[in-house]
Amino acid sequence: MSDHQPPRGDTPRYIRLHPQDNVAIVANAFGLPANSRFPDGLTLAEFVPQGHKVALADIGEGAPVMRYGEVIGHAAAFLPRGCWVDEAKIVMPEAPGMDELELATRIPDAAPPLEGYTFEGYRNADGTVGTKNILAISTSVQCVAGTLDFAIRKIREELLPRYPHVDDVIGLTHTYGCGVAINAPMASVPIRTLQNLARNPNFGGEVMVVGLGCEKLAPERLVPEGAPPSIMRMQDEALHGFGAMIDEIMTMAEQRLAVLDKRRRETCPLSDLVIGVQCGGSDAFSGVTANPAVGFASDLLVRAGASVMFSEVTEVRDAIHLLTPRAVDQEVGRALIREMAWYDDYLEQGGANRSANTTPGNKKGGLANIVEKALGSIVKSGSCPISDVLAPGERLRRKGLIFAATPASDFICGTLQLASGITLQVFTTGRGTPYGLAAAPVIKVATRTELAERWSDLIDLDAGRIADGKATIDDIGWELFHLILDVASGRKKPWSDKWGLHNALALFNPGPVT
Ligand code: CA
Repeated sequence: MSDHQPPRGDTPRYIRLHPQDNVAIVANAFGLPANSRFPDGLTLAEFVPQGHKVALADIGEGAPVMRYGEVIGHAAAFLPRGCWVDEAKIVMPEAPGMDELELATRIPDAAPPLEGYTFEGYRNADGTVGTKNILAISTSVQCVAGTLDFAIRKIREELLPRYPHVDDVIGLTHTYGCGVAINAPMASVPIRTLQNLARNPNFGGEVMVVGLGCEKLAPERLVPEGAPPSIMRMQDEALHGFGAMIDEIMTMAEQRLAVLDKRRRETCPLSDLVIGVQCGGSDAFSGVTANPAVGFASDLLVRAGASVMFSEVTEVRDAIHLLTPRAVDQEVGRALIREMAWYDDYLEQGGANRSANTTPGNKKGGLANIVEKALGSIVKSGSCPISDVLAPGERLRRKGLIFAATPASDFICGTLQLASGITLQVFTTGRGTPYGLAAAPVIKVATRTELAERWSDLIDLDAGRIADGKATIDDIGWELFHLILDVASGRKKPWSDKWGLHNALALFNPGPVT
């Protein structure tokens, strides 16, 4: 084997996404050495790692670098055909202006309804449907977290075995409630997030709150109107010592376990299913394999009546001109712009901008900047009209494809989507992350086969087969669609649930702390 050929007779392959693109990404695992020759005659001038870009033609200094048929930046210097186009060679463009965006001008035609699919869910009194049966205990302040953790260990050991139809008991613990400017306008974001988290369909409407007694966030604010009294305060003078407090939590928990234990799965239409999608540890394959497959599955779900939330404002901002025309009406288009503008201001106040989004891992994976990342990220939204926009932590109002505004942080996005009412999340990753949520199952989709094989007991679906030419986007999209229904119905468990890998909740608090 000569030194310029890839291992095991693996033919050099690149992936070009759009006829106008003047760069493509190297598909071969571990990259390709200098002098590797592609079937069309293109020869690499230097080593190019997997997922990184190669110039398909000479690109003059200052000329646009095109991927997805869009400008991802301009050449910082002359880029000869066959060279490695790494992030240092691309100058990032300005974010699209928001004054003259088209609103609801290219609303996609309604695709034919997809009929004949159902899932087995837990129906709640308020009409929502869960995919799990969990007792969730809310907290009004961080001070009680250790106490609640102690109580939960005891509930798991002593009570849960007596209520076999309940999947788990979890604490909705967080860092809010003490030392916060509770009346500041932005405090509405963490407060509504906690209120709506307690109402997630996977918790069956059984709310209980553990509070301290002196916190600014009054526990009453976390109990929905009309719900039975369900608050335990550690500073309650009737409670003498830690043992009495734990007994009180156990008594309240047991009453709720008895109710939850009567829940049974029933056959539900897909219009009762609400899922979220997000990505984390993205690479250049995210927008080629996993995210398009998620977009395909998202279209299938929406056509079948389900609701799909996509999020992550800083990963949408640079592609906003591709989304506002898909808004179902002008009002939804304006709401998209409102969320983008709010976040631009929020970042500016912190002395940052959208370029802070890309991580060292993203760049190592071949993503030059946030423009390239955003173009690959919005593919998760598929091609349906955008039917509504939710501000961070707001509850689902309409069905269909929803933009739920959240930061891109995996944990904050997960927490806010749970507050908005998702009962399952699909998570795409290129670099790899063991991410999981206690409140809802998470299906992890790898962008590359190499990752899916190396992490075979963490990754649930390998979308890398698309880059290898072993499967199409449609194939993987259908596979994911069926996997979503199996997981939502409790027939299959994703790896994060098999291992119990559950990340802590992370609230978004744009307000001041005192
Ligand atoms: Ca993320």
